[in-house]
Amino acid sequence: MRYSEMFLPTGREVPSDAELISHKLMIRAGIIRKLTGGIYSYLPFGYRAIRKVEQIVREEMNRAGAQEVFLPMVQPAELWQESGRWVHYGKELLRFRDRHEREYCLGPTHEEVITDLVRHEIKTYRQLPRNLYQIQTKFRDEIRPRFGVMRCREFGMKDAYSFDADETGAEISYQKMFEAYQRIFTRCGLHFRPVEADSGSIGGSYSHEFMVMADSGEDAIAFCNVCQYAANLEKAEAVEPDKEGGISSPFPIEEVHTPGVKTIEEVCAFLRVKPEEVVKTLIFSADGVPVAILIRGDQEVNEIKVKNYLGSDTLELAPDDLILAATGSPRGFAGAVGIKARIIADYSLVGMTDCVMGANREDYHLRHVSPGRDFPISAYADLRIIRNGDPCPRCGEKILFARGIEVGHVFKLGTKYSKAMKAIYLDRNGREQTMVMGCYGIGIGRTVAAAIEQNHDADGIIWPLPIAPYQVIITPVNVNEKNLSETAEEIYQTLIRKGVDVILDDRDERAGVKFKDADLIGIPYRITIGPKKLAEGIVEIKSRRSAEVVTLPVVEVEAYIMTRIREGI
Ligand code: ATP
Ligand code: MG
Repeated sequence: MRYSEMFLPTGREVPSDAELISHKLMIRAGIIRKLTGGIYSYLPFGYRAIRKVEQIVREEMNRAGAQEVFLPMVQPAELWQESGRWVHYGKELLRFRDRHEREYCLGPTHEEVITDLVRHEIKTYRQLPRNLYQIQTKFRDEIRPRFGVMRCREFGMKDAYSFDADETGAEISYQKMFEAYQRIFTRCGLHFRPVEADSGSIGGSYSHEFMVMADSGEDAIAFCNVCQYAANLEKAEAVEPDKEGGISSPFPIEEVHTPGVKTIEEVCAFLRVKPEEVVKTLIFSADGVPVAILIRGDQEVNEIKVKNYLGSDTLELAPDDLILAATGSPRGFAGAVGIKARIIADYSLVGMTDCVMGANREDYHLRHVSPGRDFPISAYADLRIIRNGDPCPRCGEKILFARGIEVGHVFKLGTKYSKAMKAIYLDRNGREQTMVMGCYGIGIGRTVAAAIEQNHDADGIIWPLPIAPYQVIITPVNVNEKNLSETAEEIYQTLIRKGVDVILDDRDERAGVKFKDADLIGIPYRITIGPKKLAEGIVEIKSRRSAEVVTLPVVEVEAYIMTRIREGI
């Protein structure tokens, strides 16, 4: 493409809502423009990166045996009522009515539609397994769209769904997708990690998120450099301690008047104890039933772990009336002694023998409390958020924290949808069985944004070669010098013939301006054609990433570029 003809509005201006560097650069390099909150247009330059990522995704999905479909974006409410998600999905689901007053939604994901398709067409075990995927626009009415196309409302996603006859088959399908994802993100030139993720309390299911490592990422990741264990923070496990408890406190319980003392810091200061000697009692409402969760004062409860442990549909901090009923006192003074609720303790309570906790009485605390002696614990469980430096749950070495951007997600669904929507087949013995499903998503725009977040410098984007909108830019330093533009044209035509994605910067601009633009839009290789060098028959090729410059005779340019493209760097 000739630069002079491109629709490529570059600039310095960035909107005030652009916090992330990738968002700023996507505006400045003419990649995206905002239409309205969380809804963006891709301009020609940026759309090429999208198409390249889609192509890599397509090739790897096909290679893994998945088949491409294209499903409707407008979906009838009935299907969502059948799966139960018309109620459960909440406000991210954009609902509307047609002229006949029938209810619909815009697809935020396609489990219902695909399950409906498959249940009508697949009847026997001979038709299984199948894996179907599409690259489609999704709409999610995100509460806080931000970071440009990283978290927007309308976005492109590759979503795949596998259907298997049984668990063993589903496991193989999952593994194939896991491997395909590793190839996809490797080919995109990204530095990423698959991490174990929470998959709710559906029995037997699990999931992995593919995280592009970036300090600005929204997700916290806990990982171990020794054994490669990695999980997102919601899921990361704490080590189960030896249950050998200590002996009870030699002192009897004592009630202490602690006026105005509420936070752990205040309790510690007032009673001259350490947070490790205090027990926090949190009362949750699990489907309306109060449950007391105990945790050591220096630790934080992980609500997702609590919800999964209890297997409840809903979990929230108990409302005032429930707290009053369970403790006989207002919010803020709960303790385990005498509480009218099931008591579950985090592992951090193991070995605590003489502790401080709320007294279930306004402005009082108890000290010298001994768990077991003074109240029953119905179970110990892993209910806390792990911390940087905690031991790794697999190998015991130190856990480290990092941040990442979730670009992909593989999820074993089990029979959640196939059961609810009756996706049934006949097995070898003619018996009805429920299909076992998996689902696998990749955010296409988010992947491109994450690539920029991970690959840029002060001058602009540094595209990984395999997803670069253009691989090469040819820059004659002065288009008015005939031999410069002729050589530029010659190289341009040669590279086009070879299938290289190349820009010829034929603008009548100063060299400095052209160099700046080339750096901003991040083209991996810039071929500079200047008068002095050309007089000797040579040109310069500069790598955007390493800034390394090689000088080559014009005739060798093609071979040099083709080698770079083959190697992908
Ligand atoms: P998140 O936790 O970031 O909201 P999610 O768990 O809702 O993600 P999935 O339902 O697993 O995401 O969707 C699959 C993929 O779609 C994600 O891995 C991500 O790459 C992409 N994606 C999800 N929500 C958005 C969004 N609002 N904007 C852009 N891409 C998104
Ligand atoms: Mg989401």
